[in-house]
Order: sequence, then C-alpha cells, then structure tokens
Amino acid sequence: YAKEEGKNNFQFYSTDIKTLSLERLTLEANLRHAMEHDEFSLHYQAKLDLKKGSITGVEALLRWQNAELGSVAPNRFIPVAEETGMIVPIGKWVLRTACEQNMAWQRQGLPPICVAVNLSVRQFADENLLGDIAAVLAETGLAPHLLEIEITEGMVVHHPERAIKLLTAIKAMGVRLAIDDFGTGYSSLGQLKNFPIDTLKVDRSFIRDIATSADDKAITEAIIAMGKTLSLTVVAEGVETMEQEAFLREHACDEMQGYYFSKPIAADEFTALLKTHLQPG
Ligand code: C2E
Ligand code: MG
Ligand code: MG
Ligand code: MG
Repeated sequence: YAKEEGKNNFQFYSTDIKTLSLERLTLEANLRHAMEHDEFSLHYQAKLDLKKGSITGVEALLRWQNAELGSVAPNRFIPVAEETGMIVPIGKWVLRTACEQNMAWQRQGLPPICVAVNLSVRQFADENLLGDIAAVLAETGLAPHLLEIEITEGMVVHHPERAIKLLTAIKAMGVRLAIDDFGTGYSSLGQLKNFPIDTLKVDRSFIRDIATSADDKAITEAIIAMGKTLSLTVVAEGVETMEQEAFLREHACDEMQGYYFSKPIAADEFTALLKTHLQPG
C-alpha cells in the first residue's frame, strides 16, 4: 500500500515546508541510480508541416520510470537533475539515444526527419558540450541537419557572448538550433537576429486560449511575423484543437506540435505512426 502511505505522508507534511526538501531528497536519491538501473526512456512527439500535413520532425522527451516513485514528470525531476549536475550525463544519454533512434528510422527506409533534443542550462555551461555533440554525430553517423538542439531564451539572454560563440560553433557543424518556449523569456527581435537559429517554438501558453483571447491571438501573430522577418521556421507548441490548428494555418505558421495530432509516444509507436503517415490517403 505504498500509494496509500505516500498520500498520508503528503497530507501529514503538506503544511510543512519540509515536504519540499523531503520530496527533493527522495527524487535526488532515486535519480542517482536511475541511469545504471536503466530507468530512463525517450518518448517522441511529431512536428507537422501545417501546409502539407506531413511529419517534418520529432521532439525527443525524457521519461523516468522508477520502482518506488512510479513515473515522474520531467517538470518534477529535471530541475533536481539540473541543480545536482546530474543532467549533464543524463543529457548526453538523451542526445545519443535520440540520434541512434533517428538513424534506426532511416535504416528502416523511412523518409529522413529531424530529431530535436532539449538542452539544459547546465549542459549549455559544460565545456565538453561541443565535443560531445561532434562525437555523437560521428559515432552514430547521423547527418548533422537531422539533429536540432532546443535551447531556451534564458540561455541566450543571460549569457549572450557565450551563447553566440557556442551557437555559432554548433551551427558550423550543421546542426539546427531552436528557441523553445518562445515568448516567455525576455529576448527581443534585436537580440535574436544575432543568434544563428533556425526555429522559433511559440510557447504553449499563447496557443492555449488562441481561439478566445485577443491578446494571445495578437502575440502569436506578432511572433509568426517576426519569425518570417528573420527567415525562421515558426512552430506552435501545445496545439490541442481544430480551432487552434485553423487559426495557425490561416496565419501562415509553419509547423505545429501538440496532442491534436499526437502525444509524445514510445519509439516503436512512433515508428508505426511514421509508417501509416506515409500511406497515401
Ligand atoms: P518542452 O521542451 O517545451 O516540451 C513540450 C512539453 O509539452 C512536453 O512535456 C510535452 O509532452 C508537452 N506537450 C506537447 N503537446 C502538448 C499539448 O498539446 N498539450 C499539453 N498540455 N502539453 C503538450 P514534458 O514531456 O512533460 O516535458 C516538459 C519539459 O521538460 C519540456 O518542455 C522540457 O523543457 C523538459 N524536458 C523534457 N525532456 C527533456 C530532456 O531530455 N532534457 C532536458 N534538458 N529537458 C527536457
Ligand atoms: Mg522542447
Ligand atoms: Mg517548449
Ligand atoms: Mg517547456
């Protein structure tokens, strides 16, 4: 009755600030052995071209299944992995696994798609980052343009000099670059033009109420227009409804990602999705 017990514990401590540190310590302790116990996996979520309706890419999203804790959401464990630095080896594993999986799809004769991997602030600060990316590409044989690295606005806003150097070097390898959750940080058009990025991902919070909120409509339209000005591919995140899709198509957003087309799914399910998607009609 571990579940029952966990619930009681939570209720008992819920008024106490200790809940936070206790949960944190439990996460941290379990996270330490997650890699060796093979508890991580990747799920894959399709990105769709809004005009053609074809799958253009896929985002790799980390999943953690622990015997004691069950399945733990990234928003809960990634901050802990960040603070402890564990995200660096974990992130390396994500990068390698996503590239290997993309090669596997190609070997099966599926049309080439680009796989996107999220990069954490900690990895961004790691001096081995460039070498690690180069090594993974060399060892897996994946064409660099079939890998995209997603970074957040925060990384480029807070460390602009380092960001330009690093992003330019990554870009020089032929790897694509995306800004994730765009609109939630504080980067400006003027700043963005200095970075060699390919893709802007409009944060889900702007898409959610796009059918009803005049503000969110205006913001999304502005981001799409800005993306066009800078010749970037604009991707809308968190598209869940037909109305949202219609709005984005009408306003010439390039791509969409969200539950409306597909949730993040296991690799073999994604393989099946790619295959059915190829069939005409
Ligand atoms: P993200 O990179 O912005 O990824 C998109 C998140 O939105 C994913 O949550 C995805 O499952 C969710 N999502 C996609 N479509 C929809 C939709 O239509 N509706 C709703 N409600 N949600 C949607 P997830 O997988 O829980 O990941 C959360 C965040 O954790 C990611 O946000 C990313 O910042 C981070 N993350 C995930 N995997 C990794 C990783 O391998 N490395 C690092 N550093 N961060 C990761
Ligand atoms: Mg992302
Ligand atoms: Mg995002
Ligand atoms: Mg996010």
